[in-house]
Amino acid sequence: MIDKSYISEILQKLVQINSVNPGLEEGGGGEEEIGRYIYSLLCEMNVDAELDEIAPGRFNITGTIKGDSSVPSLMLNAHMDTVGVKGMEDPFSGRIRDGKLFGRGSYDMKGSIAAILAAAKSIKERKLPLTGNLVLSFVADEEYESVGAKALVKKMKTDCAIVTEPTDLKLCTAHRGFGIWKIMVKGKTAHGGNHHLGVDANMHAGLLMAEFHKLSQKLPDERKHPLCGEASLHIPMVEGGRSLFIYSDDCTLHLERRTLPGETKELIESEIREIVHRLENNHPGFRAEIESVIWRSPYEIDASRPIVKEASKAVQTVTGKEPELIGHNWWEDSAIFGEAGIETVILGHKGGGIHEDVEWVEIESVVELAKVFNELAEL
Ligand SMILES: [Zn+2]
Repeated sequence: MIDKSYISEILQKLVQINSVNPGLEEGGGGEEEIGRYIYSLLCEMNVDAELDEIAPGRFNITGTIKGDSSVPSLMLNAHMDTVGVKGMEDPFSGRIRDGKLFGRGSYDMKGSIAAILAAAKSIKERKLPLTGNLVLSFVADEEYESVGAKALVKKMKTDCAIVTEPTDLKLCTAHRGFGIWKIMVKGKTAHGGNHHLGVDANMHAGLLMAEFHKLSQKLPDERKHPLCGEASLHIPMVEGGRSLFIYSDDCTLHLERRTLPGETKELIESEIREIVHRLENNHPGFRAEIESVIWRSPYEIDASRPIVKEASKAVQTVTGKEPELIGHNWWEDSAIFGEAGIETVILGHKGGGIHEDVEWVEIESVVELAKVFNELAEL
């Protein structure tokens, strides 16, 4: 019922289309070409499809197959963009060897796109009745600002969703979030010889970083989650000083905090402010401003919710074994669906090399994933 040769053929084509997120790498193809290809496949199988330009040159594709509208509706979602390809030998080869298909995006997450399309084709061809309405969505920009998922939940909502990020056919019910804060430590310029006049922002930033370092050592022990591991923080960027022989009046650091389900933006921000206030009290002349740059919520769904149970049962029917419940370290669009009130789990195929130089997906697991989708959608 699931056509493996169709999966191999369209998956190869999907990987061969450059859909690198243009926000991440110059020359990135974005979602127009891949979006139009997916749109054409949906039209070929007579699925009601729409192609939306959600930002200049950025596209979302949706398709709907009608079921019983009194039953909860289901969305199968995948993002079309990939991370960059610098350093990869042949990123768009789509080469197949030993049951694996290679190339950027094969695992994250064009395999899932192929699985969704193959499941839809099989549903349309067999004309089987569905439980609830089935929405297929393919979104832009997950790897950068998620403008695709944000636009999608404004356009349409379903009761439940599967975000088909790779999970090796395990069921992911929680993932970490992250926040970036910009902290501008302020000093006072002076001639390098006038130590009574100058306030060195760089050295004050050093005091602050020492405090953050202490916190980063404590956090993983103090904050843990049974599925997504530990909370963490680091300082990915520091910039300060304008010249030799001048006291620096400004040193800006960026703090990256990886959060666990239950941690809120307000909580993290108050922890940062507390450290800054302590330094202001203990070090005359210490001054810093804090600005939130990015916030992506963590996500968690209770394992007792119907969509988790149904997805688990569908995987078990196809693979013969109950899927393990897991959490992801990284952020995913599921948080946006969750915030929009859509009950969401994360479930995808097997493979490896996510965001690495050699990336692949196991084709047989894409076939299994498509079967799982049919199990979930059909009566
Ligand atoms: Zn992904």
